[in-house]
Amino acid sequence: MNIHEYQAKDILKSYGVRIQEGIVVDTPAQAVEAARELSNQTGTKWYVVKAQIHAGGRGKGGGVKLAKNLDEVREKSKDIIGMQLITHQTGPEGKKVNKVLIAEDVYYPGASEPKEYYISILLDRGKACNVIMASTEGGMDIEEVAEHTPEKIIKEWIDPRVGLQQFQARKLAFALGLEGEAHKEMVKFINALYKAYVETDSSMFEINPVLKTSDNKILAVDAKVNLDDNSMFRHKDFVALRDLNEEDALEVEASSNDLNYVKLDGNVGCMVNGAGLAMATMDIIKLSGGEPANFLDVGGGANAKTVEAGFRIILKDPNVKAILINIFGGIVRCDRVANGVVEAYKNIGEIRVPIIVRLQGTNAEEGARIIDESGLKVFSAVLLKDAAAKVKEVLASID
Ligand code: GDP
Ligand code: MN
Repeated sequence: MNIHEYQAKDILKSYGVRIQEGIVVDTPAQAVEAARELSNQTGTKWYVVKAQIHAGGRGKGGGVKLAKNLDEVREKSKDIIGMQLITHQTGPEGKKVNKVLIAEDVYYPGASEPKEYYISILLDRGKACNVIMASTEGGMDIEEVAEHTPEKIIKEWIDPRVGLQQFQARKLAFALGLEGEAHKEMVKFINALYKAYVETDSSMFEINPVLKTSDNKILAVDAKVNLDDNSMFRHKDFVALRDLNEEDALEVEASSNDLNYVKLDGNVGCMVNGAGLAMATMDIIKLSGGEPANFLDVGGGANAKTVEAGFRIILKDPNVKAILINIFGGIVRCDRVANGVVEAYKNIGEIRVPIIVRLQGTNAEEGARIIDESGLKVFSAVLLKDAAAKVKEVLASID
């Protein structure tokens, strides 16, 4: 599960990771209030207005702006709140900004220049270890650094059985070229960050930039945190951090019905049980000249209710011109699925597109008979190649 920068920073702070302080708001008026309060708390006179969306590259897309007084805080918040922010991670349609984080300016001048670093923590499955990646090339596109100068990304693998060792934290700080007070601060930062990563059951932390301020403090300016969905039962308080505005509406509806749905751009909706069969079905659709409109796995126990929920979700996509249902009757019997299809069809009423149903496995013939005798605009197929041929025929008749 992805969370917003402001939520991620709250979590990091609770583990003793120093952060760029900020207050999240939804209106320009609140933004000015927040800036005042922040100035009282931290003494800052400049502020950064930061769009809160689940995507990186906000700075380059115009979603992170420096404000040098309260009027500018109001103006820049006005510009950013409500904007459709386009970054290299949002896709061309962008994402609507509902909230901004008003943050203290941490790039103030002082004894030395502020310097940006990169630190991330994730699981290296191949080595069965967590890995901390760090670089002196923080702030800009780390993907570019990884591609052109991979030697500038340092990696330290952490055996989860013994945890982060102090020599490892020091090694990373040295590799980043830090000495004296900044070195000590970085070691503290890495320790707190690693503890937060492990105790929150996260699958990824990416702090870019980590900043060394002009007075040698080390802090997180940005924070991308990915929480592991499978650990939610241990972190009931994290469930509230989910922002449904950031997720595709159909995918949200699907997950609330226990369906695994991913929307795609094609014209043939598919409803399948099992992820592997779903992938194979998408291949067959492509081979027969169609493009899959979605990936939809209804799970092992497909029944009338899940089939109906699946239908409704697929039909909300206006691009869908035909639906292919491909169910293997292993745990579930084909006649039950066929009855489910017929029932769902009747409940939904008029379904505007042709439906091809392929049922294979236990009671396949009976399933096919139920479909054929239902009198509905549903075609049954027993073999996958027949189903594919039917999809092709149906698409040809539409064009
Ligand atoms: P991203 O573009 O989505 O990764 O958002 P970041 O939170 O990383 O911010 C983008 C950039 O804004 C950073 O790399 C900094 O250069 C700049 N920035 C962030 N905070 C401050 C600040 O307090 N002062 C100044 N001057 N710039 C900042
Ligand atoms: Mn960033």
